[in-house]
Amino acid sequence: MFEHRVQPAIRGLRAYDPGHDLVALRRAASSPLIELGSNENPYGPSPKARDAVQRCLDELALYPDPRGGDLKRALSEQHGVPADRIVLGNGSHELLMQLAQVFAGPGAGVVASQYGFAVYAIAAAAVGAPFKAAPALSMDHAMAGGHDPNAIASAVDAETHLVYLANPNNPTGTWFDADALERLLAKIPADTIVAIDEAYAEFVDAPEWASAIPLVAKHSNLIVLRTFSKAHGLAGLRVGYGIAQPELIGWLERVRENFNVNLLGLAAAEASLGDPQHLVEGVRKNKIERERLADEVRSRGLFVFPSQTNFLLVRFGENATQIDDAMRERCIVLRPMGGYGLPDCLRITVGTAEQNAKLLSALDSLR
Ligand SMILES: *Cc1c(COP(=O)(O)O)cnc(C)c1O
Repeated sequence: MFEHRVQPAIRGLRAYDPGHDLVALRRAASSPLIELGSNENPYGPSPKARDAVQRCLDELALYPDPRGGDLKRALSEQHGVPADRIVLGNGSHELLMQLAQVFAGPGAGVVASQYGFAVYAIAAAAVGAPFKAAPALSMDHAMAGGHDPNAIASAVDAETHLVYLANPNNPTGTWFDADALERLLAKIPADTIVAIDEAYAEFVDAPEWASAIPLVAKHSNLIVLRTFSKAHGLAGLRVGYGIAQPELIGWLERVRENFNVNLLGLAAAEASLGDPQHLVEGVRKNKIERERLADEVRSRGLFVFPSQTNFLLVRFGENATQIDDAMRERCIVLRPMGGYGLPDCLRITVGTAEQNAKLLSALDSLR
């Protein structure tokens, strides 16, 4: 009835596909679900974050700090950047949308990579911006499905206002090194915004990888995005942040909703930064389990994409959907990849040792 009133960009938009309906599955499940579909942290947040949330319960009637000053100070210390170079988001998802809102639109295009995070194309579509996906590295490349810096540089033209790249990438798990990023930045016009999404940065141990955060000092068009949803185990509280030079931060601040990060999120994120040991321990276990799970899956003859994250992208072939369904019948939830143009693959979050063992034996029971 109102379609003719809906803005053309929104009319053509398809909403983000959040995967299987976990709430319905949990309700219907005969035994507790093993949830390996959303890259959540199976070890949970720091006890300090839980305590901080408890302490907030007497203040729920109050608005949160609209500036997020305490969290920004903690982040400033953590990353060695001044607090005026930090913007907070209701998850980094919100910041990804704000970047498009501020910098992209009709005639102001967005470039990302094939097999890039789904939110990038949605952010572009939501503001009516033309969207180009640069072809990913071929499947016989050592970094199969990964970002191809040359293809990205060629995709950027005079109409490109914004580039989104995840490093490491979701859903492939692939990554690129610090030199490749520097060379890419040198080829991109200085007034084209480059958003490097480092949602999985804490999990990386590849020596050639480096965060883009130190490059912010040199590149005023660069913003690096981080989140508390993955390694910090706080996905339920929705806290992310961006680091960029003050001008770029200032433009994002214009569209930021005043209280976008809530009271519990601010407190828990700050407390989590105060417990690096918990983070390091979770990352250590993830690395052990990631390598073990990848080896086990490979030993079953399946192709596993290289990963520096807390998940594995696995090629199951033409039976991927049936395998996904059969796993769900066994109370194990994975993430289908049809929406990413990878219908023969499933994405598997690296769980605890016990969860991964159950996953493997369920896979074996299907053969
Ligand atoms: C999980 C994820 C995010 C983080 O989303 P939040 O909104 O912070 O929970 C951002 N980018 C990528 C690539 C992700 O996989």
